[in-house]
Amino acid sequence: MGITDLHNHTIYSYDGSNTPEEIIENAIDAGIDVIGITDHQFSVRERFFEYVAHIGRCQEKYHKHIKVLCGLEIGTRPKPLDFLSSMSEKLDYCLFESLDSDHGMDFYEFLEWSRLFRCKRGLAHTDIFLLSERYGINILKTMKEYDLFWELNISGNYVYYYDFLTNDKKRNMVRESNIQISIGSDTHWIGEFDIGRIKRAHKLVENMGRQCIFSDAMTVSKNT
Ligand SMILES: [Zn+2]
Repeated sequence: MGITDLHNHTIYSYDGSNTPEEIIENAIDAGIDVIGITDHQFSVRERFFEYVAHIGRCQEKYHKHIKVLCGLEIGTRPKPLDFLSSMSEKLDYCLFESLDSDHGMDFYEFLEWSRLFRCKRGLAHTDIFLLSERYGINILKTMKEYDLFWELNISGNYVYYYDFLTNDKKRNMVRESNIQISIGSDTHWIGEFDIGRIKRAHKLVENMGRQCIFSDAMTVSKNT
């Protein structure tokens, strides 16, 4: 099973410090098998096709060393009006953020909107247990139904991940739900990159008897 890191920002984001090439080369040096670039949609905006083309060139350039995926992190506070869901066919996946914030868009509205996307979709750094409580629904069941994966964000900025690390009950619930899981470092600068945390999260997922989403992508590309 490959090591994946599906949440990384580059200079296409207002808060990113490195070029896509620097982020990818850093990941290769750290032994990552599959890396996803996920710049902020609200920073990329009209450069969307330039961004997709740039990541596409990186996929070619580094394909012998690492599988590069083109993602996008989409804010939901509020729902962006300048991103057409049809543009998502250019992407490998999208991460949606801030659904658990007080100002996030309505979750039911989000679910319907997310159906229009033509790539894999996941929730970035989202406290799904909080959302469950807020809406009084079994969110794991809903995520499974809508084919939404869930990110374990290891950046250290989100309490829900630490809670998950130490909470057997929540881990069992997630395992039994069969939702797909991703791991993201949420890197904005390679100086903060910590491969130890990424490996720890993979161990956790492995111990749950599960595999991270896209973890076999590198193997697939080597065989084709
Ligand atoms: Zn991010």
